[in-house]
Amino acid sequence: MIRLFPERGGWLEVICGPMFSGKSEELIRRLRRAEIAGQRALIVKPRIDDRYDIGHVVSHAGAKMRAVAVTRPEDIPGLAEAYDVIGIDEVQFFTPPIVIVIDALVERGTRVVASGLDQDFRGLPFGSMPELLCRAELVDKLQAVCHRCAGPATMTQRLVDGRPAPADGATIVVGALDSYEARCRACHELAEPASATG
Ligand code: ADP
Ligand code: MG
Ligand code: ZN
Repeated sequence: MIRLFPERGGWLEVICGPMFSGKSEELIRRLRRAEIAGQRALIVKPRIDDRYDIGHVVSHAGAKMRAVAVTRPEDIPGLAEAYDVIGIDEVQFFTPPIVIVIDALVERGTRVVASGLDQDFRGLPFGSMPELLCRAELVDKLQAVCHRCAGPATMTQRLVDGRPAPADGATIVVGALDSYEARCRACHELAEPASATG
């Protein structure tokens, strides 16, 4: 029998993909299974927006699991001490020290499941995701259903007043009334930078 998981020590699993691809659902599923197996599991997420349920990870389909919102990556090791498995949702929003924080957790024997957007709304690598994907023992890239053509979607479309967002918009706009769709590469659109159109 070939083992998928190491027998000793920690490891890093990364779940990536666009919005609506089921990353949070998959994170919750894995952490629940760990709990069923008698392991102590905790989900943390970045404290970027207090409007949403700050004490839970909630998927677009309503799956829900208790989570602790943290401000800085450096806050995670202390919280993680008593746990065997640490889930991190929206990991792309953490500052670069998240990479060494996760590395240290794995080194001390923790299983870390990190879930996040691999691309921003422009299709560019998001935050520390490239580094995490490179370091991970296991990687899953999930697809959503394209809101336009119903094909497999790998990208996130940002819409401002129903129109494609300009390429020079800020990557993170907390509290903005923008909306998002999952799109395939062919259906994904970017408007000309606002600066170019005057
Ligand atoms: P993510 O964390 O990747 O944004 P979630 O786990 O929160 O995704 O939500 C996944 C769920 O969203 C799916 O199980 C499905 O019920 C729902 N959903 C809504 N729109 C779509 C779509 N366009 N493609 C796939 N799933 C969608
Ligand atoms: Mg999610
Ligand atoms: Zn499409």
